Amino acid sequence: MIITRPRDWERILRNLDEVHARKVFIMGCGQCATVVHTGGEEEILEAKARLEQEGHEVTGWAVGEVACHSGGTRLETRRNSGSIEEADAVLVLSCGAGVQTVADATSKPVFPGLESVFLGNVVRHGIYEERCQMCGDCVLDLTAGICPVTTCPKGLLNGPCGGMWGGMCEVLTNRECTHVRIQRRLAEQGRVTAHGIVPPKDFSAKLKPGSVNLREGRERGRKRAGSTGEAGR
Ligand code: SF4
Ligand code: SF4
Repeated sequence: MIITRPRDWERILRNLDEVHARKVFIMGCGQCATVVHTGGEEEILEAKARLEQEGHEVTGWAVGEVACHSGGTRLETRRNSGSIEEADAVLVLSCGAGVQTVADATSKPVFPGLESVFLGNVVRHGIYEERCQMCGDCVLDLTAGICPVTTCPKGLLNGPCGGMWGGMCEVLTNRECTHVRIQRRLAEQGRVTAHGIVPPKDFSAKLKPGSVNLREGRERGRKRAGSTGEAGR
């Protein structure tokens, strides 16, 4: 799930001032931002109260099913077209992908109300951890299912670094070194000698902006297996 956190209110208010927006429509997201408690109904009502306290008028609000879904968001903006039309700007409490989807669906100025921070594992209710940066060249097959790219603060593929002490990480001192965990798990599974050194990563596998077209069997920068589609588009 995409983890978001509230954005600095001073910046939001400055954004609204810049376009002289007195009337604002607020859009949330019924998926990640609702689960993370940053862009669901409760948070929208808090944002509404804050805006009203600052002298703005909230013309309406909505929590779309999935803010980053183009069709669903277009539908949601159509449903609320009157209140959005009345507003001078739209404030979106979702990740950046959702903000851009809303911005595509209306001609009004659209501003982010949250910061998008990482793709998170739900460790327990309310506890999220980054375990994958979606690098496009996964090494988990070589590292016993523990991602060194993300969970080692230095992103070292082969470690540990010289700062590891007593099995603990020198950066996150309350955590075991990722490479100690990897080697232990590989040893437990009898795989220590199976792979040797993890080769350098193929950074071309993570070209921006990523795009996949299942209909035409294309992935940007890379030909999909079995595809006759053109690579690098
Ligand atoms: S290597 Fe790590 S960052 Fe890359 S895809 Fe695998 S889990 Fe994600
Ligand atoms: S101690 Fe281990 S996890 Fe920490 S930065 Fe060094 S190699 Fe990475």
